[in-house]
Amino acid sequence: TPPRPQQEQPPAQPSSPPLPRQNVKVPPPSPPRIITDKARVLQFTRVGMLGEGGFARVYEVEDRQKKRWACKVVTKQSLKTKKAKTKLYAEIKIHRALKHPNIVRFMDCFEDDENVYMTLELCHNGSLMDMLRRRRRFTEPESRYFMVQLLGACQYMHNHQVIHRDLKLGNIFLDVNMNVKVGDFGLAALIESPGERKKTICGTPNYIAPEVLFDTANGHSFEVDTWSIGVILYTLVIGRPPFQTKDVKAIYKRIRDNEYEFPADRIVTREVQELVQQILTPDPQQRPTLHEILDHYWFTRGIVPACIPVSAHDTAPDFR
Ligand code: ADP
Repeated sequence: TPPRPQQEQPPAQPSSPPLPRQNVKVPPPSPPRIITDKARVLQFTRVGMLGEGGFARVYEVEDRQKKRWACKVVTKQSLKTKKAKTKLYAEIKIHRALKHPNIVRFMDCFEDDENVYMTLELCHNGSLMDMLRRRRRFTEPESRYFMVQLLGACQYMHNHQVIHRDLKLGNIFLDVNMNVKVGDFGLAALIESPGERKKTICGTPNYIAPEVLFDTANGHSFEVDTWSIGVILYTLVIGRPPFQTKDVKAIYKRIRDNEYEFPADRIVTREVQELVQQILTPDPQQRPTLHEILDHYWFTRGIVPACIPVSAHDTAPDFR
């Protein structure tokens, strides 16, 4: 049986030994209101809190030119083990090399005595997860819009030998113009030689590809992101992930058995059902390529909006 990461949203971390975690009841002290690097070249004013992840807190900050950024703060306290350091350095190395309109831009990285800081492009409109909670589900034209941008970002990452490994609605952000920005490279991996396979079991239960869980001898590669994209597509149009159920073990069993269905009472097109089915192919070698996904007639014969109004946060735009 595969290991059992926690039930809820934070990514299942690589297996033992577990990363040291902050005690949730005693939050680490807030970073200073004025954040500067040691050389005092960079200076940011903390203006608000954006969110909290597995091991980082993310603040909204303003630079000297009054431009706003997101600032991801990791306490040095949480970086005491070699493993934690290696993990953070990997995230920084991978993220800072990626420059794409649909990937959260990594600006700078610096430290003071207490923390390591990463300044990132600010995504004013939160994550697709937040938006889905308000909307319950998205229309197919909207879903095409999100998917085209997500697939573009993913093609770029894969062309640069990066597997994200934690694609999910909570890691897909929206900028001020409702452009998709893929973020959180905390579980990303770099494929350094052709054919290299990854063996670490990681991801978020609902979105984990079957080969990560059940083909640990063989390892996994780029196709795990394709699988997550299939889970994302289903979730966008239906409103909940396909393998969702009460406990993680049962989710894994459903992933293993490829057991999911389209609820009879929801009106989604045959085309999108067919595309989801193709993407969620258990054998990673048989899964469609990102290019083939974009060539599917759900995309080519449907409306792909050029942009989405901010009002879509609360009500479905009409693209007919
Ligand atoms: P972790 O790697 O610790 O999980 P994340 O990168 O997922 O941290 O960030 C945690 C939370 O911070 C996100 O869920 C989101 O609410 C917020 N956040 C992260 N990056 C940005 C950003 N660039 N713009 C706006 N909010 C962000």
